[in-house]
Amino acid sequence: MASSVHHLLFLIINLLIIPTTLLSQSIIQMPPKRHRITDDNLYCDSWRFSIETNDAGTWTSIPSRCVAFVQDYMTGDRYLSDSAAVSNYSLSFARGVQIGGDGKDAWVFDIDETLLSNLPYYEAHGFGSETFDEASFDEWVDLAKAPALPASLKLYKELQQLGFKIFLLTGRSEHQRNATAKNLLYARYNNWERLLLRGPSDQGTTATVYKSEKRSDLINEGYRIHGSSGDQWSDLLGFAVAQRSFKLPNPMYYIA
Ligand SMILES: [Mg+2]
Repeated sequence: MASSVHHLLFLIINLLIIPTTLLSQSIIQMPPKRHRITDDNLYCDSWRFSIETNDAGTWTSIPSRCVAFVQDYMTGDRYLSDSAAVSNYSLSFARGVQIGGDGKDAWVFDIDETLLSNLPYYEAHGFGSETFDEASFDEWVDLAKAPALPASLKLYKELQQLGFKIFLLTGRSEHQRNATAKNLLYARYNNWERLLLRGPSDQGTTATVYKSEKRSDLINEGYRIHGSSGDQWSDLLGFAVAQRSFKLPNPMYYIA
């Protein structure tokens, strides 16, 4: 009898305790309020995905909450790692191309943020968050000291070894030809087939149209454009596009 009473008491106590325990567990297990920095990181990672895939279309400035994120991305390992991944896929494709032996197998490279990195300039100008100042950027171009993007330099050299003719197609203007060539040599690029810059008749056209027209001219000369590398979609889209286009990362600015 005493045992039954004890058993009953035990059951009653448990019935009283369990809901309290469940309640306290449910409070403990509520997701902690996330820190603002974590939210920014997540937001900015998704923003970067959207601009790199061109889902975002034209954009004019980095969201203010993402400036620190872009700085981390550009100055840390991720930019180099992402660029290396693009370069490796480009090379993997290039190795599968049947080279004709007639000197007409072509690869087109953009220059800024593709072969050359203007990161030293953008580090001093808010990583693209400041309004673009053409005068100060032109001064930087004239210095001809932009370093190579390492992954692109490696790809460039390997493509030459494979037998591709290299065409450099840039939005820079014809008056910047000497400084551009000097900078390319400084960064250890050499033996390109042709350096194409915006001439007087190319002024006023969008980057997409200008670059498409130049690629079209090459095709009319009999070149087969197997691959194209650029940090802007306007380097790669339009008409007379390459068989394969390779988009390099650039979360600092967008050129339509
Ligand atoms: Mg570029």
